[in-house]
Amino acid sequence: MSRRPFIAGNWKMNKGPRDADALAVELKRLLADHAAADVAVAPPFVSLPAVIARLQHSGVAVAGQDLHPEVSGAFTGAVSGEMLAQAGCRYVIVGHSERRSLFGDTDATVAAKLRAAYRAGLLPILCVGETLAQRDAGQAQDIVAGQLATALAGLPLDQVLQLTIAYEPVWAIGTGRTASPAQAQEMHAGIRAWLSARYPREVPATVRLQYGGSVTASNAAGLLSQPDIDGALVGGASLTAESFRDIVAAAG
Ligand code: PEP
Repeated sequence: MSRRPFIAGNWKMNKGPRDADALAVELKRLLADHAAADVAVAPPFVSLPAVIARLQHSGVAVAGQDLHPEVSGAFTGAVSGEMLAQAGCRYVIVGHSERRSLFGDTDATVAAKLRAAYRAGLLPILCVGETLAQRDAGQAQDIVAGQLATALAGLPLDQVLQLTIAYEPVWAIGTGRTASPAQAQEMHAGIRAWLSARYPREVPATVRLQYGGSVTASNAAGLLSQPDIDGALVGGASLTAESFRDIVAAAG
């Protein structure tokens, strides 16, 4: 079964409503003809309304960068999946390494957020990945397997089938240091094998695996041509419409 490529741009804490709208205008123009891949962008919460309005009928979906596990309540500063869905988001990023390392999200928090995403009717992009110290210690596969095991424990099959998993080695995020296509493929094959060992064949055949970590217009083709890499989660290079367009073009 061939999986449709999926490119997502994580704008992180960049682009307030005015700048986000300007970038969305450019994306709408440059990505008018991107039929070969699914595309999404994840602006900061405050910019979601502007971007969602601008990208209507463009075929570019919008994602939240994070969500709180609860539906509503006294959680100052937080945004729930239900709120993201009501705003018009289709996807949400869960477990990004910056949430894990800077905001204290544990594997258990990530699991709760994943369930909250499905509860709200959002499609989650689950981020996993090892640090440099873990890779140097030969633990990369085990760390990623552990993150997957906690996040997916008890998840019903229909939800697992809708999952996107982004493998993002922490040492490659925002560092300009990219995993080589062979390194990335090795981990993606490992993730697919992990899925194969636990679920019916349709799961590893269906679930899309994105690579993330300093993806640029110049290295995208090499990464995306690997058999188990179905797309990319792009940080810095998604902040410029032309480079994001070139990455989308490399996918299809
Ligand atoms: C990310 O934050 O998901 C990411 C991959 O960032 P960058 O592309 O800037 O390394």
